[in-house]
Amino acid sequence: MLNNIEIDEILITEKQIKEKIAELGKKITQDYQGKNLVFVGVLRGAVIFMADLARAVSIPMIFDFIAISSYGAATESSGVVRILKDLDETIEGKDVLIIEDIIDTGLTLDYLVRILKSRKPTSLKVCAFLNKNSRRKAKVKVDYLGFDIPNKFVVGYGLDYAGKFRNIPYVFTLNPEIYQGELK
Ligand code: 5GP
Repeated sequence: MLNNIEIDEILITEKQIKEKIAELGKKITQDYQGKNLVFVGVLRGAVIFMADLARAVSIPMIFDFIAISSYGAATESSGVVRILKDLDETIEGKDVLIIEDIIDTGLTLDYLVRILKSRKPTSLKVCAFLNKNSRRKAKVKVDYLGFDIPNKFVVGYGLDYAGKFRNIPYVFTLNPEIYQGELK
């Protein structure tokens, strides 16, 4: 499926992802028994993670999606965040779990948490597939985490570079000889 010369290093394999999803799904199932669970997926990066995670959770839930601007085609957060597509339903009185693909500076999530909190959910927690601690600018609490990764620009499993690679079922870095100058 992929041209091998595009890959620099595979950081997380399909098998590792599968195992982690099963573990997270089990935890969420236990923690949200009898609650009004709503998965709020952050478009577009979290779609693959959310679809797999939701199927590892065995209690009733609702899906909703929000889209916020982040990097555009660049690989560095601008710190300027705005809602591109809002939720379809109210979250007041619901137990909201934000599903994010990756937390880097934390600016996007910090903004999102503030906005959703103001809508009075019963509870608001965060589940992120990946976390990079090294570039954190905003303090954010991650309640459920897939993997900590080093400060590298990664793609695959929902994460893109200029719209590409979201469909690749593992997480990898791009070959710097091909993408040199474009990645930070
Ligand atoms: P933050 O606001 O935490 O700096 O950025 C979060 C958003 O930036 C993520 O939802 C994701 O869209 C994007 N992002 C951050 N790091 C990476 C990365 O390594 N690869 C990709 N593809 N996107 C990233």
